[in-house]
Amino acid sequence: MKNLLDQNFEGKKVIVRVDFNVPLDEKFNVVDGSRIKAALPTINKLLNDKARVILMSHLGRPKGKEDKFSLRHVVNYLQELLGVSVSFSNDCIGPSAKKAVRKLNNGEVLILENLRFYKQEKLADEGFAKQLSDLADVYVNDAFGAAHRNHASTSTIASFFPSEKYFGLLLKNEVDSLEKALSSPQKPLTAVIGGAKISGKIDVITSLLEKVDSLIIGGGMAYTFAKAIGGKTGTSLVEEDRVDLASFIIHKSTELGVKLLLPVDSINANGFNNDADIKISNILNIQDSYMGLDIGEESVCLFSKEIENSKTIIWNGPMGVFEMSNFENGTKKIGEAICKSTANGAFSLVGGGDSVAAIKKFNLEDKVSYISTGGGAMLEYLEGKELPGVKAILK
Ligand code: AMP
Repeated sequence: MKNLLDQNFEGKKVIVRVDFNVPLDEKFNVVDGSRIKAALPTINKLLNDKARVILMSHLGRPKGKEDKFSLRHVVNYLQELLGVSVSFSNDCIGPSAKKAVRKLNNGEVLILENLRFYKQEKLADEGFAKQLSDLADVYVNDAFGAAHRNHASTSTIASFFPSEKYFGLLLKNEVDSLEKALSSPQKPLTAVIGGAKISGKIDVITSLLEKVDSLIIGGGMAYTFAKAIGGKTGTSLVEEDRVDLASFIIHKSTELGVKLLLPVDSINANGFNNDADIKISNILNIQDSYMGLDIGEESVCLFSKEIENSKTIIWNGPMGVFEMSNFENGTKKIGEAICKSTANGAFSLVGGGDSVAAIKKFNLEDKVSYISTGGGAMLEYLEGKELPGVKAILK
């Protein structure tokens, strides 16, 4: 596979699948442009080469052509970031897209209208992908956030560029970091999994069990494990239909020689709010009418020690309801332990919407090795699945 950085694309029409699916306010201003900023290294590389850069993306979940989901809303934002003029085509295929591309000079940028205005995008339609491909000489995929989707612009289109298809710099970084953490990790490898429920992460947990030395479980899902080992869980978030599954994971980890660490103590509240009455207890002995909303100090110490002895750490999901100040401590302390381990030479990979939000809330984002931008794509990668967007470039 050819590397984008080894090529010069002067004068070439390069179509780049980016992930500009950003939140907009009611006046259609970009609220959080992190995803746009994440694509800048690739765009700047192409601009420095004096390529003609054609950007395509989806935005939201439009039902047909809905102006509130128009990519026109991000043009000014990108223009300010790049400092070059950015043009816009109000269709992503057809005569107007072709005309906009013809007008594009070397070193200029064009954004195409939302790909999902056509239902063919999500259907991975070949004819639609062919029309997109007709606009360019080279295809680059830099949309890690959409790499787990088998769509026309993320997957089908690659076949029309048998030798001129590349990973963008963001996508390459994501894949390299995940590979580093999973395929050839420095040992010991520890996964820290938290969040609300086991049900959403069961495939991740079972796949990781085959790879990790230690598995730390926190967050809401820990209470289903507590129930599985005969604990009294009060009104905590227990998934009754997953108790057997939790028992199976406990059994499997012993069989595989994986050290499974569950919280030992729990911060409990008599309501799901920050002003509720708080009681601390052993996680196996939570008072009736109280629910566990965070891990306690003993668990923090236990988990931190394990993290600090690890050489590779994967973190997905908070340890408690970190959005509320009274239940943020566990997540904050575990985040800090991961940063400390990173400072001592470990490689740490953080991903999944809520863990990234937590890392940002506690200002730790510069202290971990890598923050993944694609929650869904990262989870599927951790589940051991092949990502269609990655496969299409490699084959
Ligand atoms: P997920 O999207 O599955 O990673 O879940 C993240 C959410 O889990 C966050 O919004 C947390 O507030 C929530 N969460 C973490 N710990 C608990 C808990 N003990 N009880 C209820 N919700 C929790």
